[in-house]
Amino acid sequence: MRTAFPTTSRSGLVIWFTGLSGAGKTTLARALATVLQEAGYPVEQLDGDIVREHLSKGLGFSREDRDTNIRRIGFVANLLAKHGVIVLVSAISPYRATRTEVLAAAPRKLEVFVEAPLEVLIQRDVKGLYAKALRGEIAQFTGISDPYEPPLNPDLHLRTDQMTLRACLDQLLVALERLDITVRRR
Ligand code: ADP
Repeated sequence: MRTAFPTTSRSGLVIWFTGLSGAGKTTLARALATVLQEAGYPVEQLDGDIVREHLSKGLGFSREDRDTNIRRIGFVANLLAKHGVIVLVSAISPYRATRTEVLAAAPRKLEVFVEAPLEVLIQRDVKGLYAKALRGEIAQFTGISDPYEPPLNPDLHLRTDQMTLRACLDQLLVALERLDITVRRR
């Protein structure tokens, strides 16, 4: 049964999942969104791949375009969070300075570094993109032919090659409890 939403104005938060393609950002954001929604919180997801089809349609993968994409996502995420929404952003967001800039404007933030070694990501190759990038068919592919700057001091660092999805989710819920966002554990 859905519970009444506890404290709208105080719950606003941007949870920003950053990491290489295939690291697990979307999977974790989706799983967490479900748990939070079931607990009655207002939740919105901003997924990098989906945003690029709409809000950022036409942008490419130069540093300038990537930064524009992240600033747009950050702008929307922060607006929603100011109105009590828990916003889950999953976007590679390769540049540290840009992530820091947009998260500085969030009412509250949780920066989550989602990581697995490149060999694991190449083996997973969820979207078949690594094989193409390694064949040189995709230019400026983050981690292969374009830079990724990991967070120096993330609020949470999840190694998805070492932890199950359930264990990652539990760590996220513990971090959220510290922000007074609580769900009943199953
Ligand atoms: P990203 O959004 O970072 O590009 P995806 O979430 O689309 O990555 O893909 C991550 C892949 O890794 C999925 O196939 C998922 O099932 C798998 N995976 C394995 N372990 C984990 C974990 N602990 N957390 C998240 N995903 C995991």
